[in-house]
Amino acid sequence: MSRIISIRDVKEMVRNGQDIKSIPSDAIITPSARDYIFEIQSNGGASPQIVASSNGSSSVSSGNNSSPATDGKLSPPSRPPNSKSSKSELEAFFNSPYAHSLKLQICEMGRRLWERAYVDGNGGNMAIRVGEDIAICTPTLVSKGSLKPEDMCLVDFQGNQLCGTRKRTSEILMHLQIMQKQPQAVATCHCHPPYATGFAVAGIVPPTCMVPEYEVFVSVVIAPYRTPGTPEMGKLVSDLVADYNTILMANHGVVSWSHNGIEEAYWRMEIVEAYCRTLLVTAQLGKAPNTFTPEQLKDLLKIKQSLGYVDPRIGMKECELCDNSEWRPGVACGLNSAGKTTVGLDAEAEEAVKAITDQILAKMR
Ligand SMILES: [Zn+2]
Repeated sequence: MSRIISIRDVKEMVRNGQDIKSIPSDAIITPSARDYIFEIQSNGGASPQIVASSNGSSSVSSGNNSSPATDGKLSPPSRPPNSKSSKSELEAFFNSPYAHSLKLQICEMGRRLWERAYVDGNGGNMAIRVGEDIAICTPTLVSKGSLKPEDMCLVDFQGNQLCGTRKRTSEILMHLQIMQKQPQAVATCHCHPPYATGFAVAGIVPPTCMVPEYEVFVSVVIAPYRTPGTPEMGKLVSDLVADYNTILMANHGVVSWSHNGIEEAYWRMEIVEAYCRTLLVTAQLGKAPNTFTPEQLKDLLKIKQSLGYVDPRIGMKECELCDNSEWRPGVACGLNSAGKTTVGLDAEAEEAVKAITDQILAKMR
């Protein structure tokens, strides 16, 4: 059987001085691994520098210094502070070049969220875990399109603000509950992208097996509605993060998490939103969509597993994988209802109107 080669495998080979030409020709190479190999080959065989940062690692304390890494990203301190650290330690960390680099990443993702109209008003929020039980997060009442590093906040996992002059987002509890329930989650992103939010409002989990990116990079489910910012909302979402990385919040929006960083959590928004948009186009073309075979899906899930992404379908039998044969919202509803139901009131409402009309007529007599 062919093997899946991820970028992590290639980096490991480079680190161990192995020749990438030794990768078997029948191996499935993930797109990012392929790019990385291309980069190595176009450098005339010289390997790109391997960055020892929180990238690709589930541990925030994996770095061993705070000097600039080769791709411009800074490494985390070897001993990051926690909620019990002294005020001065926390302030020193919060104002360090490393924390600043994370704040800049949040600002950049905020700008992308706003430019793509995934956030409205002051909506949307993000957080990055920076220690065992602390996180940097966005403030409340600031548009994600105009965030500045000095707007950011540092909070403990109870949501208490430790540093920062602006007040932390009111939705932080949900992010923190995700991080507590899912130890791999280093970053979380929440926003209101219209197409995916439409599915969340309709209560429809997007059907699967149509686009590879969607199968590989996201695992989507719907959490029931609760008032935003309440611990109850956070609990319903965080109960799902063991198996899903992208949660549609009923009648609200979407929240995602990543074990690689805030940019990947943001990418999940682009992927789920583009997919939901594509589904709506597909549904209007008047033809049942062509979908992956269980075998094709299984190959995609193997890539997903090799990238360390969660998915409840990993390990399922092929016959259990596809669940979307009946799916054609809009088109299906329109066809089914055409000619069958008359436009108008239901029986109960019609009876009520008749009763009121009778009363009025009786008074007039
Ligand atoms: Zn929201």
